[in-house]
Amino acid sequence: MSTEPWTVRRVLTWTASHFEKKGLDAPRLTAEILLAHVLGVTRVRLYVDLDRPLQKAELAAYRGLIEKRADGEPTQYLVGKKEFYGRPFLVDRRVLIPRPETELLVESVLQHLPKEGHCRVLDVCAGSGCIGVTVAAEREGASVWATELSPDAADVARANAEAHGVGGRVTVLQGDLLGPVPPGTRFDVVVSNPPYVATGEIRSLSLEVRSEPRMALDGGADGLDLLRRVAVEARRALKPGGLLALELGEAQGEAVRGLLQGAGYGQVRVVKDLERRDRFAYGTQPKEQGLG
Ligand code: GLN
Repeated sequence: MSTEPWTVRRVLTWTASHFEKKGLDAPRLTAEILLAHVLGVTRVRLYVDLDRPLQKAELAAYRGLIEKRADGEPTQYLVGKKEFYGRPFLVDRRVLIPRPETELLVESVLQHLPKEGHCRVLDVCAGSGCIGVTVAAEREGASVWATELSPDAADVARANAEAHGVGGRVTVLQGDLLGPVPPGTRFDVVVSNPPYVATGEIRSLSLEVRSEPRMALDGGADGLDLLRRVAVEARRALKPGGLLALELGEAQGEAVRGLLQGAGYGQVRVVKDLERRDRFAYGTQPKEQGLG
């Protein structure tokens, strides 16, 4: 048996090749993220300490993570966080892991909001809270409301709001879509990344995505159940000129355009993500018609 010590270098090389054999994406990067997590250091630090031998307890903890990752547990759940719009968000099995494309949705919302002064934003199906919390953190004058059906996910969203110092301006309400929002409350923006995967497509998703809450993915037979309802319900909650901003699946652009037009929005547009796939739809609440 080899008595060569398990240094940072050796452990990373072994793990990257193990992950590669298992067919995981980004094997080396994943090995580094998990090891940095176990050692409580940054990834850069690993490179400074390549010859550092791992202690028994560190090795044991790392082995545990390697096994779980190889079994399909997402890296972000194993380390308990995911960076979104430059901020670390707490994530675990209670919430969907924030996706980079959703940062573009946030960007459009921010563009619609005044840089200074008060504004009110509603994040529907908030999950980890990444959208609403980011908006609150980027706009000091924003009051953000977030609704979330899963009480467990709502707890995570609250924790993220606290962690980013915006707990006082982010109100997380547990309930179905716009149900928990008091009638008469009007928003400058209603934004949502609702579940939009068609039920029949869920089983063909990767093992990693299937470790995420089904409730955060399953959008019904055609994937549009929630998008359809958000489009209709948001009409009663938007100020005149207010923006509805939705994330959607790549095959749903035209269908959602139709939904928004049918629900009476103006300036409806479907926008692609960085991979040039339909990913977002926007519509504007018409200005109140004068009675003439
Ligand atoms: N974009 C997610 C995926 O990768 C789906 C998220 C959602 O349904 N809102 O499958």
